[in-house]
Amino acid sequence: MTQSDVSQPSRIVIIGASLAGGTAAIALRDQGYEGELTVIGEESQLPYERPPLSKAVLLGERDEPDWVSNEATYADKDISLRLGTTATRIDRGRKVVVASRHEYPYDKLLIATGSAPRRLDIHGAELDGLLTLRTLEESLALRARFAEGAKIVIVGAGWIGCEAAAAARHHGAEVTVIEPRSQPLIHVVGEQIGASFAALHRDHGVDLRLGVGVKGFAGDGAVSSVQVKAGHPVPADTVLIGVGAAPNIALADAAGLKLTDGGIAVDATLRSSDPDIYAAGDVAAQDHPKYRRRVRVEHWANAKDQGRHVAGNLLGAEAPYELRPFFFSDQYDLGCEYRGFADPTKDRLVVRGDLASREFTAFWLRDGAVAAAMNVNQWDDADALQELVDSGRQVSDKELLAS
Ligand SMILES: Cc1cc2nc3c(=O)[nH]c(=O)nc-3n(C[C@H](O)[C@H](O)[C@H](O)COP(=O)(O)OP(=O)(O)OC[C@H]3O[C@@H](n4cnc5c(N)ncnc54)[C@H](O)[C@@H]3O)c2cc1C
Repeated sequence: MTQSDVSQPSRIVIIGASLAGGTAAIALRDQGYEGELTVIGEESQLPYERPPLSKAVLLGERDEPDWVSNEATYADKDISLRLGTTATRIDRGRKVVVASRHEYPYDKLLIATGSAPRRLDIHGAELDGLLTLRTLEESLALRARFAEGAKIVIVGAGWIGCEAAAAARHHGAEVTVIEPRSQPLIHVVGEQIGASFAALHRDHGVDLRLGVGVKGFAGDGAVSSVQVKAGHPVPADTVLIGVGAAPNIALADAAGLKLTDGGIAVDATLRSSDPDIYAAGDVAAQDHPKYRRRVRVEHWANAKDQGRHVAGNLLGAEAPYELRPFFFSDQYDLGCEYRGFADPTKDRLVVRGDLASREFTAFWLRDGAVAAAMNVNQWDDADALQELVDSGRQVSDKELLAS
């Protein structure tokens, strides 16, 4: 079935005015949708992209994120933005979204509520000076604390923790990163590549404590130290809790939509268990046609691409979303891009280049094909890596090491 075969819905509502939601709204108009279009968003800003929040904004290079589009574009395209507004209920029987005592009727609904930082439910978690990093306000608040000599402790050496550590060092702060696992980023890149990220941070003066658990925070009103499971308390003016994010599924759950793998269960076309409700971005756990399993991705490209893609399906295209995950990170003078979807505990690692010089490409091989590839400070072979991951073709170590 093509879009022109079906009549357009009269009213589309999008919950979540960020990357997936904002991109979907613009794409709906670009694809010829002429009905009512409302985007409900909790944050007060126009839809924006978050990657600069842990990079350029945190480094002090600028004060704004990347905007999905400017204000005039939403007005020109007759997109009704309800910002600073929280959707509190989806009434599937009456097909309305309830937000701030208003009801927004829909024929088709897109849930793009993203995710929120996980918090630690431990002693002292209510103290001042414990921050998370998800929004523009949080990025600016954190940056204001990144002063020369400030004692910054980062709990969690995932992507956000690692990028924030780099920014804090850039401002001259004393940085301690505490991670219970044996290497930074180990769940994505495994032990060996994780160790190269550990070396990167230590070379830039970070006190990286691996295999260390946090048991609480101490302080009189404001945090002054982090209590670890083994060892002395770590002095802290500011603590960034960087222990991952959890999808915002409460609305979908209360509405009785099927959930799975922590997100909203959607089929290959991003449609939920209710045929008039779709989900995209961080919150969507997709039955991915390329992997024949559920995949939920918390990355920029996925939110942007799914936002664009789901617009066509809201208009009746019924097209599967087939792109593979992609993400990037910048830390100090290291930039990297990761394509595909590997399990570093099972897939075999092949490294082309030199880990010590931080110019290399890592391949994770499954059944003789490249499940994922990550280029680090190497930018010439992005297309070739994408082809390798997309094609799923058999490849020898010799070919990988030679190319
Ligand atoms: C600091 C930071 C840096 C990042 N850097 C990178 C990077 O370098 N590379 C990369 O690939 N990815 C990166 N990411 C991840 C990427 O930003 C996310 O995957 C992306 O933002 C997901 O977009 P989304 O639209 O699905 O959800 P979100 O961006 O989370 O947006 C969801 C929106 O929905 C709103 N909302 C939630 N519930 C409601 C409700 N009930 N009513 C109304 N509104 C609601 C939220 O307030 C939010 O504005 C980063 C994330 C962060 C936080």
